[in-house]
Amino acid sequence: MLDLLLPQRCLVCGRGGAQLCPGCRDGLSRIEPPLCERCGAPTAWPVRRCRECAGRRLAFATARAAVAYDDDVRRLVRDWKEHGLRGLAEDAAALVAERVLRPDAALLTFVAADVDRALWRGHHPAERLARALAARWGLACEPLLARRPGARQRGRTLRERRRNVAHAFHATGAAPTRVILVDDVYTTGATAAAAASALRAAGARRVDVVTFARALRA
Ligand SMILES: [Zn+2]
Ligand SMILES: [Zn+2]
Repeated sequence: MLDLLLPQRCLVCGRGGAQLCPGCRDGLSRIEPPLCERCGAPTAWPVRRCRECAGRRLAFATARAAVAYDDDVRRLVRDWKEHGLRGLAEDAAALVAERVLRPDAALLTFVAADVDRALWRGHHPAERLARALAARWGLACEPLLARRPGARQRGRTLRERRRNVAHAFHATGAAPTRVILVDDVYTTGATAAAAASALRAAGARRVDVVTFARALRA
């Protein structure tokens, strides 16, 4: 509904028209291989683990993303979250399908939103992206996760985030053997790891994480 109240303009360059104009869409910086096989960080050559993920317990098998979480994408994702821009989920899903090989699984699920925030916004980008991606990949999409209250991440340090988020999720039912876990942004990997851990505890043997954007180390 909020879409209708906003003027149609590109969220990156401000020109009238689509919410993400073709020029800006082409200009988003794609994540290019070689990548860390595990966490999907761009590396100088293909590695099984990288500096970013070595020594960390990560409950997911792989993480992959379409674009770098730079200033343009940050603005895009912020507006997507704040205004519930429906068209962006389709754009994001198209970019993911273009860049990320579909993991071998029958089902997609998504990182659960804070209950109050999701209700307030009436919109959850991770779910919208998961549903759009499921349609493209011909797979089912179901909610499998819930967030425990009081696990906000904003404004915390990296160490606090990791500790705080580790038990932030629980599964709402049994998880299938292989699951694709979708979120809008991969930042430290702590959220993805915690959500994957909850899915593993509910019976999943393998969880592959797919996000629209990924934060890159400088
Ligand atoms: Zn533009
Ligand atoms: Zn890595």
